[in-house]
Amino acid sequence: MKTMEQYARLVDRAREKASGTLGSMVREPPGAFQEEKTPLTELLEFILNTAYQSKASDVHFEPLEQGIRIRLRINGVMKLFFQGMPWELYDKLVSRVKIICGLDIAEKRLPQDGRFSFAACGEGASLDVRTSVVPTIHGEKIVLRLLNAPDSFKGLEQLDLSAGNLRLLREKCTGSSGMLLLAGPVNSGKTTTLYAVLTMLNQEGINIISVEDPVEYRIEGINQIQVNGKINFGFAEALHAVLRQDFDCLAVGEIRSAEAAEMLISSALTGRRVFATIHTPGAVKTIYRLLDMGIKPYLLAAAVSAVMGQRLVRRLCPVCREPYRAAPGSREAEFLGEDYDRQQEFFRHRAKGCPHCEHTGFAGRLAVQELLNLDGRLAEAVAAGVTAGELAKLAEEAGMVSMRQDGIKKAAAGQLELSELLEIL
Ligand SMILES: [Zn+2]
Repeated sequence: MKTMEQYARLVDRAREKASGTLGSMVREPPGAFQEEKTPLTELLEFILNTAYQSKASDVHFEPLEQGIRIRLRINGVMKLFFQGMPWELYDKLVSRVKIICGLDIAEKRLPQDGRFSFAACGEGASLDVRTSVVPTIHGEKIVLRLLNAPDSFKGLEQLDLSAGNLRLLREKCTGSSGMLLLAGPVNSGKTTTLYAVLTMLNQEGINIISVEDPVEYRIEGINQIQVNGKINFGFAEALHAVLRQDFDCLAVGEIRSAEAAEMLISSALTGRRVFATIHTPGAVKTIYRLLDMGIKPYLLAAAVSAVMGQRLVRRLCPVCREPYRAAPGSREAEFLGEDYDRQQEFFRHRAKGCPHCEHTGFAGRLAVQELLNLDGRLAEAVAAGVTAGELAKLAEEAGMVSMRQDGIKKAAAGQLELSELLEIL
């Protein structure tokens, strides 16, 4: 394999040449770096370029007992890329990454994080890389997250929303006030959705402020604030300050405390548009998470205009996917329940893949969503204190397509595998 050979050659060269110095480097705020090419830099660039070309979202450098392992996360799955890097070279690489990010190279016992930007494949566009260094029992583990990889930054039309959900989401985002919540676990794509919404609203006539931890993507025209717990500038402090910043739209990633939730609710009630992500499994559950945080039902009903729940699954390669029918009694049939029809065709990935999908059977990722429109009867029901089960039933009657139903439609259309959908729901 060519990439492997190139990697081995670069490791050898870096090991020979990287004795002593770390090479000179000029750091240009914010986080951009330019440096003299050394074999060690070339090695790092090579790994980053390989990750970028493979459409990886993260690069993991893992110190294990038997040596350093480098894995990439591609389409949500970890894949082994490189193995075999001498320890002394890895130590230098860790120091190099720390210098680029402006971290303390002497600190090896505590986690640190930072970021830098990098011209991928020598292209003009620069790639933002978020860095996390954490001590493990065998040494420091580095995770590099490639932020504005072409796949991760999308417009509203590219979020895989059904036509009905797209229409409703757009209507909710452009409304004059109220709060839109984006719900999901880690890696469910909710931040991508938040940025897509903000990008759509990003115009000269509107003051948009975001409070984030961390700022994942930079968007020109939006006032992005990075909170910093180390200096007591947390979400609550940032939100207090923002209230005096004459904003039209406020975005928060993500709601973690009752105090933050209360402040956002009151902003939404004073005629502002508020967008926030929250770590909950789905739309209806989000309402009850906020109630558990102590938000009064009538305030919540008045402030929240909609909640979108979402998950990410692997997108089937449209070229080599294979049709099949779910057998009676199979896990799929069980999952489909009343919707099961033995004639219905679904699709699964071809194990060997094809050149189009780089022989993986999958091509990127796809979101499944549900959008709870909290107005009219549903808002009244929340204000009156209905149970989660009752609210879910009312939402269904009002026409909400659940994540499960949205996923099943997408599976029938050949976009995703039913077996993966039932795994995540
Ligand atoms: Zn394929």
